[in-house]
Amino acid sequence: MGSGPNGLAAAIVLAGAGLRTLVREAKPTLGGGLRSAELTLPGFVHDVCSAVHPLACSSPFFRSLPLGRYGLEWIQPAAPLAHPLDGGTAAILERSVEETARGLGPHGRDWARLFAAFARHWDALAADVLAPPLHIPRSPLMMARFGLKALLPATVLARALRGTPARALFAGNAAHAFLPLQQPGTAAFGVLLSVAGHAVGWPIARGGSQRFADALVAHLRSLGGGVETGAPVERLEELRPARIVVLDLGPHQVARIARGLLPEGYRRRLERYRYGSAAFKLDWALDAPVPWTARDCLRSATVHLGGTLEEIVASEAAHERGEVHERPFVLFVQPTLFDPSRAPPGRHTAWAYCHVPNGWTGDASDRIERQVERFAPGFRERILARSVITPAEFERRNANLVGGDVNGGAMDLAQVFRRPVLGPTPYRTPLRGVYLCSASTPPGGGVHGMGGYFAAQAALADLG
Ligand SMILES: Cc1cc2nc3c(=O)[nH]c(=O)nc-3n(C[C@H](O)[C@H](O)[C@H](O)COP(=O)(O)OP(=O)(O)OC[C@H]3O[C@@H](n4cnc5c(N)ncnc54)[C@H](O)[C@@H]3O)c2cc1C
Repeated sequence: MGSGPNGLAAAIVLAGAGLRTLVREAKPTLGGGLRSAELTLPGFVHDVCSAVHPLACSSPFFRSLPLGRYGLEWIQPAAPLAHPLDGGTAAILERSVEETARGLGPHGRDWARLFAAFARHWDALAADVLAPPLHIPRSPLMMARFGLKALLPATVLARALRGTPARALFAGNAAHAFLPLQQPGTAAFGVLLSVAGHAVGWPIARGGSQRFADALVAHLRSLGGGVETGAPVERLEELRPARIVVLDLGPHQVARIARGLLPEGYRRRLERYRYGSAAFKLDWALDAPVPWTARDCLRSATVHLGGTLEEIVASEAAHERGEVHERPFVLFVQPTLFDPSRAPPGRHTAWAYCHVPNGWTGDASDRIERQVERFAPGFRERILARSVITPAEFERRNANLVGGDVNGGAMDLAQVFRRPVLGPTPYRTPLRGVYLCSASTPPGGGVHGMGGYFAAQAALADLG
């Protein structure tokens, strides 16, 4: 139930094992967080949610699928990430650790010291990180080394890097946690996203993320699986004729659709599950590329707009207090520089969001555009049309995005280990044959499909 990357991954595993499999999706189109749509003007294709795919390219399960056969093509921009600073310079995350270190100035070696070993062993590290927290690590030494750094607050690990550009680059990656960067565990996001950039890049899918979902669906169909759209499930009993039900849903939704069926203690744990801060997103149709002052920003699809470590720390503390900073940290993507198929000739699209409190009802459009203007004066003159997606609109488009939380629940340390419950197989529910697989299960938010993969493996094991 649910056709997000986790739901489709689960369906592919089950269909691949020879079971008759059907995906039921509430909305008229498939893909959940992998959808693309003409949000602004005809001919301009925008990724509604996910746009950049270091996690998909690190996912042991997605990497094992023949998705190229079904039209999925990764585009690797010259550099994974650019992070402009005032004064017209930019810190650049290059594919090569060495080149990144050289570009970061006199103290660039700090970057290599921190990340080079993890980048060399990324396959093993990614397999361990994209797994349930209670498992026997494939690479125990590397995991121990990673854990010592990952458990720190990002603000503390940042001290291992000297110089404004390196600290800013790291802070922008850590800010993907959607948490104040003084919180323990936020360093993990900074390490993982930096290292993934070196190891697998931060690619985009030619034609938009929807092509990724379409390839997953095509592969599922090739295995005999079916899909049904516009078919919301309101009550778990509707699905009961199935021997296995895998729910690509959040804990609160599960508690609702399974009301009266779940043991009281488990239902209360689902209801206690916490959602985190939200996204406020803009998409633009542009008549030309973004006029970055730092021309290096044109080498990357992803650009982090937040200035220095200190500024990003202030921005990420604000949404946790229920506020939105005047200069919010903005995640910005410019796919058409590398994929002209997404817009009419000579035209461009851009995608951006900032973090806001869960369920926030304000308007961050001006603040986001001012951050782009700060590093690309004249940007606003290039806008042909804009689309705004508020936290409430996210939830209307996809019931899993509760209050606009894009990660399927707060990713703080406590909840990384209890997603939604602690255990070696948190995908199992107390109901026979019913499993959870969404981003609210380990390893959490992002397009990697590993929640779906592990949930389906648990189901197959229970079937014997
Ligand atoms: C703005 C934004 C930007 C993001 N950027 C990135 C990125 O660049 N890279 C990245 O890796 N990740 C990104 N993410 C996160 C990523 O999209 C999600 O973590 C991922 O899609 C979660 O997958 P999922 O399968 O758990 O659920 P989802 O993708 O949310 O899919 C759940 C599906 O279940 C369906 N559903 C819900 N209720 C019902 C019901 N009652 N009956 C039937 N169907 C139902 C929904 O309609 C939806 O299709 C982003 C998310 C957002 C919102």
